[in-house]
Amino acid sequence: MAQTDTPRSDALFARAQKTIPGGVNSPVRAFKSVGGTPRFITHAKGAIIHDADGKAYIDYVGSWGPMILGHQHPAVIDAVVKQAAIGMSYGAPTEAEIDMAELLCARVPHLEMVRLCSSGTEATMSALRVARGYTGRDKILKFEGCYHGHGDSLLVKAGSGLLTFGVPTSPGVPAELAALTLTATYNDLDSVRVLFDANPDSISCIIVEPVAGNMNCVPPRPGFLEGLREICTQRGALLIFDEVMTGFRVGPTCATGLYGIAPDLITLGKIIGGGLPVGAFGGRRDVMQKLAPLGPIYQAGTLSGNPLAMSAGLALLRALDDASIYASLESRTRELCSGLQASADAAGVAFTTTQVGSMFGLYFGSGPIETLAAVGACDIERFKRFFHLMLDRGVYLAPSAYEAGFVSAAHGEREIAATIDAAREAFALIAKS
Ligand code: PMP
Repeated sequence: MAQTDTPRSDALFARAQKTIPGGVNSPVRAFKSVGGTPRFITHAKGAIIHDADGKAYIDYVGSWGPMILGHQHPAVIDAVVKQAAIGMSYGAPTEAEIDMAELLCARVPHLEMVRLCSSGTEATMSALRVARGYTGRDKILKFEGCYHGHGDSLLVKAGSGLLTFGVPTSPGVPAELAALTLTATYNDLDSVRVLFDANPDSISCIIVEPVAGNMNCVPPRPGFLEGLREICTQRGALLIFDEVMTGFRVGPTCATGLYGIAPDLITLGKIIGGGLPVGAFGGRRDVMQKLAPLGPIYQAGTLSGNPLAMSAGLALLRALDDASIYASLESRTRELCSGLQASADAAGVAFTTTQVGSMFGLYFGSGPIETLAAVGACDIERFKRFFHLMLDRGVYLAPSAYEAGFVSAAHGEREIAATIDAAREAFALIAKS
């Protein structure tokens, strides 16, 4: 066998593939779109993750979002350890669930009632059911390139892993169900109006990532979210903001507060679980009151509101209750993006970045990046090369050109500077090829 510099990860990947499809429990982890062996992680602290071969990396994935204060935040660890000592799960209500619901409703504008579940996928699936049950309409409208988890109705022209693999939808999603999912173009209100005109009184909701984070990182054009609100109000459909990624990431009041829009329903996940499996959906009281056991719309979960997840999420959210954290996250991320841009410019490589708070996107192409088409027009081969050059230099970026990156509060000046140094070398090599 040829010698590689990742023998332990190679061996683990080979072993994993015997019993786990593709060797991973979520497709993008497999490095399929960038090639090479996925790094098997052994431990992490702050901004750094370590792999099975003893290498350290500055981590810009952060478990795909939750690690906004870095890995092993002391308050989160402490809360989880304390809870683990008194019980993992009871299947009966706990005070921590009320604390979480109260905290979420206090911080997220327009969140009047909330139901906790165990993943972002569950949150969006349930929000759709609520929207359909409440309006009595079956169709939903989503945007191409937005990913809302792997629920059947939502696995149509979805983003991230599906874009990475070029699969527009998935076998196993019945055509009859997919036909109820209408797809519009992100940042294009006319594409939404056309669908409403063609499907009068039958669209239950628009579901949207207020900042699209599953086709890299595409911010909403000014007026786009406002326009969606107006269309929903006029046409009797509910507006669902899928804030699984943006919730408590783009700011302390989520994208809902940042952009000042009033969605009818909001979904959350990632950060609110502090790294443990969690999801939540909620919004207007009159809509949420239709949910069982109050109303007829059914939704449930053995581990919903799980005590460990509540303890981790509450500890993280309480630690985030400090506006200065978001200001410094944003300026750190700006430092990173402008440093990368300057390095690319110096090397003469066409390159653009996008940023909302501590979410960012990197593109091998010249902007502006406002649509999925613009993201798709960028040079994916150059991204792959860049990804590996950075990995070799100890920087762990998302292994796909269709994923947003995340900066944490544990990324200090040193980590940002080291990342930009690595990028300078990488861009110079790319310019030569
Ligand atoms: N919605 C959005 C916007 C997401 O980014 C994701 C996951 N990346 C989901 C839903 C699904 O969440 P989960 O992976 O926890 O099921």
